[in-house]
Amino acid sequence: MGATRQLRSDGNTPASRRRRTGVSITVPPAQKRKFRERLLKWYAQHARDLPWRKTSDPYQILVSEIGRDTAGAIRAFAFREDAPILDTNVMRVLHRVFVGNGDAKKQKSSLWNLSAAMIPKGKGYDFNQALMDFGAMVCTARDPYCLLCPMKDFCKTYPFTAR
Ligand code: SF4
Repeated sequence: MGATRQLRSDGNTPASRRRRTGVSITVPPAQKRKFRERLLKWYAQHARDLPWRKTSDPYQILVSEIGRDTAGAIRAFAFREDAPILDTNVMRVLHRVFVGNGDAKKQKSSLWNLSAAMIPKGKGYDFNQALMDFGAMVCTARDPYCLLCPMKDFCKTYPFTAR
């Protein structure tokens, strides 16, 4: 009883743990594979020519990023680790394709987990860059290019309609 009270007063209840760690978003393996392949193929054809892609200098990468995402960006882009990122573009893409409802900002923990789970082994750098470009150029905040999108046959938001 005392221990239970202590846990609750520390905010360590099952509900608070769920909020911290997020509900897991399950993606079938075939869909995961399709998303990875199509995203990297799209990136090979459409990647933006951004100056910080020409450097592995952690400081230059640091000044081009913000928040928790910075640590992921430093790991992924400076040290080439398979580390997840979740900037605004990445959050929007993953939420639209694999969740499709609710407020993405309230599902951040789950989307961080999903971002980590989606990275193809050894390809974190290109995959993360591709996600950011895809969000900036195809799955844009307003008027995404759904008709031309390589993810449209399994995207949970297709066709996007502004609310
Ligand atoms: S189909 Fe539309 S909403 Fe879905 S990922 Fe593509 S551009 Fe985004």
